[in-house]
Amino acid sequence: MSLTEKEIRQMIKIARATRSKAFAHRSGHKIGASVLTDTGEVFGGCNIESVISGLGSCAERTAIDHAITHGQYNVRAICTVDDGMTPMCGACLQYALLFSQMSDDEIFVVNADSKNHYNVTPLSTLLPQGYKTKSNLQQIKAYKNGKGKKKKRKKQKH
Ligand SMILES: [Zn+2]
Repeated sequence: MSLTEKEIRQMIKIARATRSKAFAHRSGHKIGASVLTDTGEVFGGCNIESVISGLGSCAERTAIDHAITHGQYNVRAICTVDDGMTPMCGACLQYALLFSQMSDDEIFVVNADSKNHYNVTPLSTLLPQGYKTKSNLQQIKAYKNGKGKKKKRKKQKH
């Protein structure tokens, strides 16, 4: 299902707001991101750098992780905002691909700048030969529609 203009604008708005929270003390390159899930909710993310090289996280991944902490696993689109329409990195494309496998649906990547210019590209176009897992696929797909949540245990008698 493609994105509406309203959904795209909402994603850009939230990504831009979250960008201001970026923890970019090493690079100074603040990036904001957002994730639109199948419930219509949008979750923001920003890049988080570490003093230890190699640690930290891209804005896109923190946005996906933010959605997951709210029990939202079905990613419809990911938006990235900075001054120069910097594209998503390969690691984030690969990270997102797992959620595309989970939902058996395309994820759209919205790449925007701070002046409201944007483009929308399907993830499968940006990462046509990405790694697709064959293991754990059933367990991963169980999270579709929140069905991966563990069932409540019956209260144990003490
Ligand atoms: Zn990245």
